[in-house]
Amino acid sequence: MRTGNAAWRPTGATVAISDDVLVVGGGVAGVAAALAASDRADVRLISHKQSTLRSASGLVDALGYTPDGEGPLVDPFDAIGDLPEGHPYERVGAAAVREGFALFDDAVGDTYRGSHTDRNALVPTHGGTVKPTARYPASAAAGLASDRRDALLVGFEALTDFDAPMAASHLDAAGVPFDARGVTVRFPGDFRADAKVTRYAHALDRDEDLDGTPARTALAEAVKAHLGDEERVGFPAVLGDDDPAGVRADLGADLGADVFEVPMGPPSLPGLRLEDRLYEALAEAGVRVESGNPAVDVEGDGDRVRAVYVDRGRRKVPYHADQFVLATGGLVGKGIDSDREGVREAVIDCHVPHPADRYDWFEEDAFGDHAFARFGVDVDRDLRPLSADGSIDYENLRAAGSALGGYDFAAEKSGGGVSLATGYAAGDAAGAAAAGAADETAIHGDTQ
Ligand SMILES: Cc1cc2nc3c(=O)[nH]c(=O)nc-3n(C[C@H](O)[C@H](O)[C@H](O)COP(=O)(O)OP(=O)(O)OC[C@H]3O[C@@H](n4cnc5c(N)ncnc54)[C@H](O)[C@@H]3O)c2cc1C
Repeated sequence: MRTGNAAWRPTGATVAISDDVLVVGGGVAGVAAALAASDRADVRLISHKQSTLRSASGLVDALGYTPDGEGPLVDPFDAIGDLPEGHPYERVGAAAVREGFALFDDAVGDTYRGSHTDRNALVPTHGGTVKPTARYPASAAAGLASDRRDALLVGFEALTDFDAPMAASHLDAAGVPFDARGVTVRFPGDFRADAKVTRYAHALDRDEDLDGTPARTALAEAVKAHLGDEERVGFPAVLGDDDPAGVRADLGADLGADVFEVPMGPPSLPGLRLEDRLYEALAEAGVRVESGNPAVDVEGDGDRVRAVYVDRGRRKVPYHADQFVLATGGLVGKGIDSDREGVREAVIDCHVPHPADRYDWFEEDAFGDHAFARFGVDVDRDLRPLSADGSIDYENLRAAGSALGGYDFAAEKSGGGVSLATGYAAGDAAGAAAAGAADETAIHGDTQ
């Protein structure tokens, strides 16, 4: 029996938990894996904490730049075939990338746009840069940089993360095919200076009375005085949490212009909305979801994982399954851990290739090509983690998402897409293997 990181052994009574497929990790990759496996298998998803979605913009990128920095790419699929060996897209192939995005489109329905084309959309972000991305929230649709209509960007005095005049001048400097102008207004009502983005969103959702006027009308009034000939108006992404479409429609009707949201940094309301939608899809697919406790160790039996152990405070509980998917994230999500001694995968202790000398992990230039950005587990083309000698760790364990090495999601703009493609591929293979095992047991049972 091979064991993972922790020195402890489970003690006392254990609860019998057994599923066809166990997915560890509740980010985009884990959700995609669970949904893909759920067609053919009973699936449980366990996650320690919330995923990086609460920090991410809510945009889902496929590939915006090549690993050599060429781009922005018009069509990511033109470049996927040329990616280097070991890149997650090279491992799973372009068909899995398409399947991963198709699974996403099914899960999110009309709350997202971009599925009508392979080409990247260009979405303005809060810093005034234009980002190549594959899927964007419906709330950002009227803001695309390919749209030639002039745009007014509106910032709020208390939300200093979005400096609308600066963002507008950056867009102009980037050469967008429209005039962008930015203004800063006071959000109506009496909000604390450090109010959370959800506070603004809920005031608009509920159309709260602010200064004696319903919130949506009051905000439109505050903006009207600044609106010129622009046909579209962009706000920071705080326009409703439960009813963003209704908030945009009312603001648009009052302003006589299309309204859009500009994706923001953390905490990201579009990211949280996306997380809600994905978890609704898990519930609809019948996936059992548990969160709040970390997986901490593995029990192996020869070349198979028998159980992953979850630390429930006083007890370490074994979670048995036929197939396992590791989707615990990278250095940000805590799936990959580093200290002075080195870099390791935190649950199973899968091998993470990295230079022995820590000085080789970084470049001096902050925007340089840092090796650490590509740290993660190496996998075969079936996404099974590989040991230092290139052999497969366990035949029923697959890894997905930013736990994988060989790509720099921030530089390439490929984070969400890699999670969808590898999550889909890992979950699909795990579901098929579990279904095959169940069939074999049934046949075996019949002949006995
Ligand atoms: C600031 C920021 C902005 C980003 N912006 C974009 C963007 O605009 N577009 C884009 O496409 N991508 C973006 N990304 C990248 C994108 O969020 C990630 O690439 C992708 O979603 C990673 O998903 P994941 O499921 O692999 O991992 P994560 O999102 O990291 O999720 C990992 C999950 O595993 C759980 N977990 C970790 N350890 C354990 C454990 N021991 N036991 C149980 N569960 C565990 C975590 O709690 C979490 O639920 C951004 C990322 C960041 C950090």
